[in-house]
Amino acid sequence: LLLFSAADLGAPGQLQISDERLQHLHNVHRAAVGDSIRVGEIGGHMGEGRIAELSAARAIITFQLDCPPPAKLPVILLVALPRPKMLRRILRSAAEFGVEQLVLFNSYRVEKSFWQTPVLNDSTLRSYLLQGLEQSRDTMLPPVTLERRFKPFVEDRLPGLLQNRRGLLAHPAPTAAAAPDHANTPLLLAIGPEGGFIPYEVEMLQKAGLETVSLGPRILRVENAVTALLGRLLSPGC
Ligand code: SAM
Repeated sequence: LLLFSAADLGAPGQLQISDERLQHLHNVHRAAVGDSIRVGEIGGHMGEGRIAELSAARAIITFQLDCPPPAKLPVILLVALPRPKMLRRILRSAAEFGVEQLVLFNSYRVEKSFWQTPVLNDSTLRSYLLQGLEQSRDTMLPPVTLERRFKPFVEDRLPGLLQNRRGLLAHPAPTAAAAPDHANTPLLLAIGPEGGFIPYEVEMLQKAGLETVSLGPRILRVENAVTALLGRLLSPGC
């Protein structure tokens, strides 16, 4: 999917592409004039485009938008802020799986320096989310919230996020808990930091109403825990 914004519009119904997406068309798609290409307006509809002009300098794509984006996965994903390299992957995955909202929160075992990463700048966050959306053919950016203080977040804002949602806390345990039978129940899923949650945090999250779920005794890397758990929840008709 080629995502675009108002800035990419030439004449009505025409896109002018001239940045790294043009390189992508040349190098990855080996695109040629006349090829069709799926396009989508960020935050809007998708449809079929056709490459009307293609050079080293620009591509002109004519299009019609007639298809709404797919439904979101009814999940608010909470992740303890990981190191930047992992954060980039998680941003892409969260958008690709179609989570409704992403909350990056602080926890005792999150390194302070992680909060200084330029990946957290609005435009950089957005660019990684867009990569995930392009991959999965979606146009709706999930909002991302940064929660720099654990206790006020859990006490003051988590209850609001949990309204009409089942809350799950991913925590390794010797036996795997059954996959949550969510049957379209909206969920909130919390994933811990690389070093895991400390007991106080587990207690606070449980007190806030989160049920512990485990994928068994294997300790998965944060990014793999995210994809394994979202993969379990992703099912046709979500
Ligand atoms: N030593 C840490 C512990 O025992 O909690 C390991 C943390 S793990 C690398 C990072 C996060 O991924 C965990 O806090 C949890 O949220 C999630 N995770 C990893 N493996 C998991 C499993 N088997 N079941 C459920 N969650 C898991």
